Amino acid sequence: MSVARQRLVVLGATGSIGVNTLDVVARHPERFEVLALSAQRKVDLLAEQCHQFFPRFAVVGSDAAADRLKGILRQTNTPTTVLVGVEALETIASLSEADTVMAAIVGAAGLRPTLAAARAGKKLLLANKEALVMAGPVFMEEVRLNNVMLLPIDSEHNAIYQSLPREHSSNLLDNGVRRILLTASGGPFREMPWEDLEAVTPDQACAHPNWVMGRKISVDSATMMNKGLEVIEAHWLFNAPGERIEVVIHPQSIIHSMVEYADGSVIAQLGNPDMRTPIAYALAYPERIEAGVEPLDLCRIGKLDFERPDLNRFPCLRLAFHALARGGNAPAVLNAANEVAVESFLEGRLSFTRIPAVIEHALSCVDWRDIATLNDVLEADAAGRDAARHLAASLPPRQ
Ligand code: NDP
Ligand code: MG
Repeated sequence: MSVARQRLVVLGATGSIGVNTLDVVARHPERFEVLALSAQRKVDLLAEQCHQFFPRFAVVGSDAAADRLKGILRQTNTPTTVLVGVEALETIASLSEADTVMAAIVGAAGLRPTLAAARAGKKLLLANKEALVMAGPVFMEEVRLNNVMLLPIDSEHNAIYQSLPREHSSNLLDNGVRRILLTASGGPFREMPWEDLEAVTPDQACAHPNWVMGRKISVDSATMMNKGLEVIEAHWLFNAPGERIEVVIHPQSIIHSMVEYADGSVIAQLGNPDMRTPIAYALAYPERIEAGVEPLDLCRIGKLDFERPDLNRFPCLRLAFHALARGGNAPAVLNAANEVAVESFLEGRLSFTRIPAVIEHALSCVDWRDIATLNDVLEADAAGRDAARHLAASLPPRQ
């Protein structure tokens, strides 16, 4: 019996998550049809992807990129229609023919298209954690109103999803859950002497010991802000209060997270650190499909280590717990200031150790407000960016 193919839109197709998504999709042409792809600048890669998957639409970030893409597609006889800009991203995220949207744009730029997919009631595969962190209440309300099937791509949240009862209610305690144990590798600087941190370069920060990822999330992993954003992400996805989320350092990244139940049971999901596992899980849910991932060889790995995070070395994690406890616009301000600080660091304008100071400054000087609408979220984002830019510009660059 032939089953209708799942029609897929990939937002951020040229990024690390986007490329891994298309790798899984290419293994199952009988299951998936690619309807639309997006990129910001990487026109050559997007053109190759269009030639391989023949999507109906491709969206890029500027007219110049669109002209270049059209030129390449003409030469290769690829019949994809090229569109430009944020509104076009919202259009492809809500196409009536689409079943599933992979939200894999990095940062706040992904918010509007990801929300559009939720409003259109699509099956939503969420990698773009920043969208959920900044707009938690607004985003989850759209998910509820439109009956969205929301599947986490972040490996930790995907592991938690797999470790919760399949038909879990929105109240964790009703399911006997005591705690969520969010694992963290600790990034490349877990053991680096303090005095050396000041001088680390963007390339050192992006050399993650276990995962190959985009540059922004790689820096977030090095500061552990990534784990902080993930604590807030877990709060919204699983309706878990901050006190029930514990971060555990696990340098091998084999256990992707755990759920502890009232009877003392701890359920974990394990696997090699390869994003194709959570991507394939979410694409095929509730079935399981081949993802091209190496089988886990526990005897070769030998041992799994765990330790508590050092909040002095990683103040960003403390700041994220603080923003979650404060609620309202605080997570959006935290996220915005972090994006500014990380960009400044990547461009050599800010030293690694000043990233938390920029975020703390933004949190302390933006007035607390409640968040009820998209406009509130955008205001908090703009205020957080302004405050962060102001301080970042006055700090010395890397020595
Ligand atoms: P990348 O930087 O590798 O890719 C980002 C994608 O978004 C690219 O397609 C990029 O286009 C596009 N993009 C960048 N800026 C904009 C913009 N302003 N408007 C529209 N599109 C834009 O990021 P990752 O794939 O690593 O991460 C994507 C998301 O997934 C992030 O939110 C990250 O936190 C999350 N995530 C990633 C994981 C990973 O393993 N990589 C793991 C867990 C979560 P172009 O290439 O043309 O610049
Ligand atoms: Mg993660």
